[in-house]
Amino acid sequence: MFTLENVFAGYGGTVILRDVSLALPSGSVAALLGPNGAGKTTLLRVASGLLRPTSGTMTFDGVDVTGARPHQLAARGVCHVPEGRAVFPSLTVRENLALSGRRGTEALEKAVGAFPRLGERLTQLAGTMSGGEQQMLALARAYVSNPDVMLLDEVSMGLAPKIVDEIFEFLGRVAREGASLLLVEQYVSRALALADFVYLLDRGQIVFRGEPSELDGDDVFAHYLGSEVGHTH
Ligand code: ATP
Repeated sequence: MFTLENVFAGYGGTVILRDVSLALPSGSVAALLGPNGAGKTTLLRVASGLLRPTSGTMTFDGVDVTGARPHQLAARGVCHVPEGRAVFPSLTVRENLALSGRRGTEALEKAVGAFPRLGERLTQLAGTMSGGEQQMLALARAYVSNPDVMLLDEVSMGLAPKIVDEIFEFLGRVAREGASLLLVEQYVSRALALADFVYLLDRGQIVFRGEPSELDGDDVFAHYLGSEVGHTH
């Protein structure tokens, strides 16, 4: 179980997250939704240790990890896939995977098992691949580190529908294998199809928490997400 309890955080003097509490039980998928600027990325940055909460508590499997650095959380199995393409563009696919912390053929086989396309491109420089392929590589790098918790920030953003399908298939696979996912997604319906829990963030506060089924016909959802409701492609 990964938790944030009564977390406040921000930048300089600006408070962004206000009294945020969120629980991600082991092996579960939570969708973190909300309008632009609500603080979703900020929340993931706190969860990954990139941004220290100004107050509140974070725990992982019962251990207080408040204020832990990103590498310390990574060592515990918390892995962050930030917005954008988290790859080293001037290194090959193989080198990018080797830098994920796990070397050898096992990691390579795991990456290629998840995204066969990467197997055909092991010697290609990551920066010369398509946006979708780079995102697959970024996800594969996270996956081969065998994370217990994956924090995923709009990993399908700007990609072709076919690639988005592949990425969601991959996320389903990671979830079935037992990792917990905290998913910030613009594709609300797809995220909800995968999610056990939904958190709705607005202006730095959690305004709804529940199961996806509880959102059916709930105007809280339409109110905060507007036209994004039903956005599936
Ligand atoms: P989006 O869906 O548009 O990506 P978001 O919900 O992820 O939005 P955040 O990126 O967390 O929202 O931003 C929340 C607020 O924090 C915004 O008002 C943003 O301008 C502000 N903010 C983000 N990063 C910084 C920073 N490094 N310094 C100061 N303010 C920041």
